[in-house]
Amino acid sequence: MTELNGKKLKGNESFNDLRKINFMNNDKYKNVYFRYSKKDYLEYADSFDYSNDIKEGKIKGFENDLDFKKSMKKWKIDQFRDFYGFTHKNRITGQERDYRNYACLDCLEVLRPDFISSKDRYYCVNCL
Ligand SMILES: [Zn+2]
Repeated sequence: MTELNGKKLKGNESFNDLRKINFMNNDKYKNVYFRYSKKDYLEYADSFDYSNDIKEGKIKGFENDLDFKKSMKKWKIDQFRDFYGFTHKNRITGQERDYRNYACLDCLEVLRPDFISSKDRYYCVNCL
């Protein structure tokens, strides 16, 4: 019987695939680490007033906070990741981490060169 932890193997799934699925469903990752979406970053941005950063020239090319936040709505997700310097938040410790180039942004498995998705280098072959 091809079974692992009570899950039956489907067609082309291997034991490794199932271990992987179990790993991905692990509370450690799915419940503890929260990945920011564009919407989440925009909500995060709302809790800040960037007026001083704009006045002091730390953020360039904007009239005021409103102007800056309007432009943020057109940002790609990587612009948010670069600006804030994190991709995930640990819900328990509150610590923010940037997992780019280190772990798959979906399952957080450590990325190996032969394991990186060709569609997006921030994800593993199993997730994208
Ligand atoms: Zn993955």
